Amino acid sequence: MEKLYYCEFCQGRTESFITLKNVEFNHNHKALSILSEVRICKDCKNQVYDRELDQITTEKAINEYNTLYGIPGSEIIKFRNNLNISQSTLSKIIGIAKKTLVSYEKNQAIPSNHYLQTLKVVMEKPEIIQLFAKNSDKIFTKKEAEKIFFCDIPDSFKVCEDEYHGYNDYSEEKIEQVILYFAEHSTVMTKINKGLFYLDFSAYKEFARSITGSSYQKFAYGPFIASLYQKIEKLVFQKKIHVKSISTENLKYNEYTSLIKPNLSLFNEREIILLQKVRDYVTSLSASAVSEDSHEEKAWLMTEDGAYISYNYALSLNKDFFENE
Ligand SMILES: [Zn+2]
Repeated sequence: MEKLYYCEFCQGRTESFITLKNVEFNHNHKALSILSEVRICKDCKNQVYDRELDQITTEKAINEYNTLYGIPGSEIIKFRNNLNISQSTLSKIIGIAKKTLVSYEKNQAIPSNHYLQTLKVVMEKPEIIQLFAKNSDKIFTKKEAEKIFFCDIPDSFKVCEDEYHGYNDYSEEKIEQVILYFAEHSTVMTKINKGLFYLDFSAYKEFARSITGSSYQKFAYGPFIASLYQKIEKLVFQKKIHVKSISTENLKYNEYTSLIKPNLSLFNEREIILLQKVRDYVTSLSASAVSEDSHEEKAWLMTEDGAYISYNYALSLNKDFFENE
């Protein structure tokens, strides 16, 4: 026998049927219209309450809302899986209860504006979660913190082989080995950064391909890899690099020294020659002189503040590491 639903207009259980209807939703002054299945009383043709259909409609509406104005639950799950972090860890990062995060992931709730913003920031710049791991030892267990620190950050640069990456895939592994190579005999951040810039841009000029696939932005002090500081910090945390704070009368800076040998098997013969030349060059200059050199490069002059620098400028690089060949 057909299940009877309670109709509040007929004041009793009646026979009913299912039909499609546009259901209006309002949240945060944003209106949505969802085409969904509703149950109609056969006698009075009014809508009757069907818990299962209502739940499906609500989930549809929340998913639609989150897709248009927030983050769909499936995206949060994908993000977490990419980083290989648990619901419990991500909820601590966002500052919400685990069951709240679960309800976001299942499209059973809409994140409030505050948490939505936090989620968006974390998902756009996943490298910032490493800061949480470093500075929140009261929130995370040591094991959790380490897991966050070593999680595989999906670099947004990874996918694009274009003029801003020197037509090469971004390689976290290579950039780490270059940093270890530059820091073999103690160096400073500016020199590592400038060395990377000259390495990648010269490689593009000579071999038509960058080495690390990194993107450089125009910063006041020169072309800069925005996440370089994070990468060095990670190597320090992993005890692959030693950091020493130096204080002179009017200067304070960190000096970095590799604690392990770089793995150069990732690079071909010509790339290793270039690595040596660039390291010799940055080692021979004072940090400020290295900065000045890069300020005269078209790559830096022709790019707007903060913008990514096109590798096309590599062709007009002043510095020529192979000029005597
Ligand atoms: Zn009725």
